[in-house]
Amino acid sequence: MALAALAILGLAIGSFLNVCIHRVPRHASIAHPPSSCPHCGYRLRWIDNIPIASYAALGGRCRGCRAPISIRYPIVEIVTMVIFVVHYLVFGPDILLVPRLLFACILIVLFAIDLEHHLLPNVITLPGIVVGLAFSAMLPPGLVDALIGAAAGGGILWLIGEAYYRYSGQEGMGGGDVKMLAMIGAFLGWQAVILTLVLSSVVGALVGVIVIAVQRGGMKYALPYGTFLSLAALTASLFGARIIAWYIGLYQ
Ligand SMILES: [Zn+2]
Repeated sequence: MALAALAILGLAIGSFLNVCIHRVPRHASIAHPPSSCPHCGYRLRWIDNIPIASYAALGGRCRGCRAPISIRYPIVEIVTMVIFVVHYLVFGPDILLVPRLLFACILIVLFAIDLEHHLLPNVITLPGIVVGLAFSAMLPPGLVDALIGAAAGGGILWLIGEAYYRYSGQEGMGGGDVKMLAMIGAFLGWQAVILTLVLSSVVGALVGVIVIAVQRGGMKYALPYGTFLSLAALTASLFGARIIAWYIGLYQ
């Protein structure tokens, strides 16, 4: 019962996240006006806004002009649904579910925006730091761990970016990455920040090797770092405690 409710909630919120992903980088309000087709201006009705079903029924095209609708819409809805269900399976009916679901939603939006625009908007990351600290003051990991996490997360990436800039004269790390890792620290605490950095490096290196192999030596990176940070932070949020316990166990 709870799983089904959470799945439906995930679909509905995924639909809202799509609006954020489309509008935030365009500096448009997420509340107003109602969604419309960017090609013909067709104003979407409730029947066009049912997650997955509307997309499937319309064959992925606008009801007004038949222009193709991005496959991103049903993908984000399904991914959000799955992530909501997995959260419930991991945390159960715990109050911690609330901040972690919110955190996951932010990560989904940042992933999609960074993937498309190579951008991690301040209007998401900066309030994210504040909200993360507020939740952490009442729930795990606790305010002190969260403050250290935010400071360390932002600080480490800032130092790496600064060192890289001094060394190479090129901008390596965007300011968005710095604020995003500070936000991750605010929600999850400093241990998860370290785990997130390690996981994102491993995933980034793996993807890098694949890209280089496929492109035959082309070093140009296809994916922005915020996408790896999102995947790593989501893993740390869901399984971090288990991964850290396992790692510590190796040395006992
Ligand atoms: Zn249209």
